[in-house]
Amino acid sequence: MPPCTFKAVIAGAGPAGLTAAYELSKQGAPVVVLESDPEYVGGISRTVNYKGFHFDIGGHRFFSKSREVEDLWTEIAGTDMLDRPRSSRIYYRGQFYAYPLKPFEALSKLGLFESIRCMMSFAQARLLPTSNPKSFEDWVVNQFGRRLFRIFFKTYTEKVWGMSCQEISADWAAQRIKGLSLGSAIKHALLPQRKPKDRKQIVKTLIDTFRYPRQGPGMMWEACASKIRNLGGEVLLGRRVSGCRFDSARKVWLVTTRDANGQTEEFCGENLVSSMPIRELVAQIDPSLSQDAHLAALSLRYRDFLTVGLIVRDRGRFTDNWIYIHDPAVQVGRVQNYKSWSPEMVPDPAYSSYGLEYFCFEGDGLWNSPDAELLALAKKEIQQINLANSTDVVDGCVIRQRKAYPVYDDSYQQHVEKIRATLDANFPTLHLVGRNGMHKYNNQDHAMMTAMLTAKNILAGERKYNVWAVNQDAEYHEAGAVGAETLSAEGANLRKVPALAS
Ligand SMILES: Cc1cc2nc3c(=O)[nH]c(=O)nc-3n(C[C@H](O)[C@H](O)[C@H](O)COP(=O)(O)OP(=O)(O)OC[C@H]3O[C@@H](n4cnc5c(N)ncnc54)[C@H](O)[C@@H]3O)c2cc1C
Repeated sequence: MPPCTFKAVIAGAGPAGLTAAYELSKQGAPVVVLESDPEYVGGISRTVNYKGFHFDIGGHRFFSKSREVEDLWTEIAGTDMLDRPRSSRIYYRGQFYAYPLKPFEALSKLGLFESIRCMMSFAQARLLPTSNPKSFEDWVVNQFGRRLFRIFFKTYTEKVWGMSCQEISADWAAQRIKGLSLGSAIKHALLPQRKPKDRKQIVKTLIDTFRYPRQGPGMMWEACASKIRNLGGEVLLGRRVSGCRFDSARKVWLVTTRDANGQTEEFCGENLVSSMPIRELVAQIDPSLSQDAHLAALSLRYRDFLTVGLIVRDRGRFTDNWIYIHDPAVQVGRVQNYKSWSPEMVPDPAYSSYGLEYFCFEGDGLWNSPDAELLALAKKEIQQINLANSTDVVDGCVIRQRKAYPVYDDSYQQHVEKIRATLDANFPTLHLVGRNGMHKYNNQDHAMMTAMLTAKNILAGERKYNVWAVNQDAEYHEAGAVGAETLSAEGANLRKVPALAS
């Protein structure tokens, strides 16, 4: 029986796991973080280094409405944080459109004939809206008309989710639309921008500057891991958590890990903090949960993601941070230009590094394609969308990201509720944090806030804070206030505009 040395055993060294470990370590609580990746910390927010070129998994904007989160980023990364301008566009049938959309530019690029059709379809939608719109599609069509929906929303959204916009749940749209109305989009497009005094009033998807670590988001999480180690905490890589046993006599968790060679180790802690996907956690808990809880966990779905990183001779053709590819003629969904995120993402300014993002399911055709085929596809498509000549591509790599997006389908909430109720009732020292850890489609700031509150709960020895009451803006609302907020977002759906998935 190992001595029970840790206040908390933490599964996963992404933003949630590392934030929990850092906050606990600062208070002198002994922690160990167990991470399955053999090389990187940071989870989805890691940065992959390929021959000195840094590849972000997506592009991670560091922006939060929460002052505590912003301050923690500054505390960890200090002067390594840059203030960066944002530039993003949409590519559709050979044309580039500013995003956030500029209505006059959009209409002039669409041409007179298409513009008239768009306006007629908009007028029709306003006169004869779908009453009680339930799906993403109904909402956008009501708001913009069917033609603009097809051009600016349908293809990209379906590429991201791998399902029809009719099937996308109200919940996802309700979450993404928060704070962004048609009025605010048009005002943003037409009027000179003044920074709101209160950062809580900023519409997140429209922000035009954000912070970014010099060498990508992984730099933040590497710095956090080293601060934890300096404080005496352990961050162990290459350890996949494979078993979580609760010893009810001693009231401790015995957590088993397995490394790449099949070697196992056991760690004992008073608390278990889990940022691993709920589906995996439920399968590992011993004593086993009910059949119902297992079925609920198995019903949770995920969308996966791969980035083909291309190293390209820079001819100055592409200076945006990213471009959404709405064009159905290519499979790529979005293209990142990492040098625009930070000049230090490339080791030589004569080159750029692009990330062509393909949304897929683990095990499908794209996911299983050999790297050489994916590189050839990306080379072909980067030329097809006019961002580079394929002859300027000098090298590349493929980065696969399992479970990039927790899927919000019609029943996910019910399943999460069921699992949560069982865990809360039986295991008060088990703490779920983060994105897949709570099955929440949210940014780093949400993951971090759930971890910060969890650390407070652990230090207090009781659940003073309900981490499920942290909203997507990383704001904490006591029970009741959150319900009210969700209701008002749903009730207001006719007046709101959905944003593009990030
Ligand atoms: C394409 C894309 C773009 C994004 N853009 C932004 C953005 O602009 N700004 C922003 O703030 N956020 C963004 N995000 C969200 C951000 O990446 C996540 O919110 C954040 O990484 C979640 O942190 P986490 O610690 O909860 O989870 P993760 O980052 O998923 O980390 C979980 C960790 O747990 C490990 N793990 C899983 N299972 C086990 C196991 N059994 N044993 C041990 N370890 C395990 C994983 O390897 C991983 O390291 C984006 C996400 C995506 C997919």
